[in-house]
Amino acid sequence: MFMKLDRLQAELPQPKKPDPNAAAALQELLGGKYGEMSTLGNYMFQSFNFRNKSKLRPFYSLVSSIFAEELGHVELVSTGIAMLNNGPGDDTPDVDVSKAPFHEMQDIRLAGSFLSNGGGATPINSNAQSWNVDMVTTTGNIIVDLLHNFHLECGARLHKLRVYETLKDPTGREVCGYLLVRGSVHAHAYALALKKLTGVEIEKMLPTPNIVLDKIPECQKYLQEGSHRRLYLFSQGDYQEAAGVWSNDEVALPGDPPGNLEVVDGMPEGGKIPELDGNYGAFAPNYAPEEIFEIASKLYKKGR
Ligand code: MN
Ligand code: MN
Repeated sequence: MFMKLDRLQAELPQPKKPDPNAAAALQELLGGKYGEMSTLGNYMFQSFNFRNKSKLRPFYSLVSSIFAEELGHVELVSTGIAMLNNGPGDDTPDVDVSKAPFHEMQDIRLAGSFLSNGGGATPINSNAQSWNVDMVTTTGNIIVDLLHNFHLECGARLHKLRVYETLKDPTGREVCGYLLVRGSVHAHAYALALKKLTGVEIEKMLPTPNIVLDKIPECQKYLQEGSHRRLYLFSQGDYQEAAGVWSNDEVALPGDPPGNLEVVDGMPEGGKIPELDGNYGAFAPNYAPEEIFEIASKLYKKGR
């Protein structure tokens, strides 16, 4: 079962202006073939379907821990998309709906992100194609599944880099910087799992693609704090057996800051979930929202 914390895995800087086309690029990392919906769906169902969980505990715990992290990545990318669509926010409730206040929204790449979703994220790629279940692979064979996961993480890093190269706004760049570091951990972890099972030193192929994190400014604080060496269990006491794969005998990849790999009980410190201001002209959360704010405020006081 799951527990929910009201935090994001990384602190995201506020965007400088609304940038719905940047949000559209970031959608690729949510609902694209190699996006967070795909990594989540793959590892989640593989973990549910895992045979001989107790006998294969180090591998089961590894896949389960990474799946929990991917759920947080879905939340992180979705938040980044909504922030970029929204911009820094201006709390002006008075919009004259008869004056085409959103005329320029006809020209954004994903008009549906405004017209249908009110600027929120939804599981589609950067061309508005739906994410779908065909992007989930769960064969039941542990080696084939792990090989698939290794490919998926390497492919995901390629996509993250390309999206990063299109972005100028700090919000989207931060999302990519964080995910590039974490994706490196996941590719490394699946390579080590395959090595323990087959003897093949797949981790020697990494980084694939050969993205040097040192060249990406947004990656630096995560590298300095050692994020690239940490596997988070997103639990309190459970899933410790993942340390059999992500073990202290193994070290960081060449090119990254050196050190031993470590398993962390719990989760990264992360950051606050940023406040998204209302877009009242778009009736999100509503036009002239004072009344619903007052209702919520009364309920909040009553609940304390
Ligand atoms: Mn991810
Ligand atoms: Mn991943």
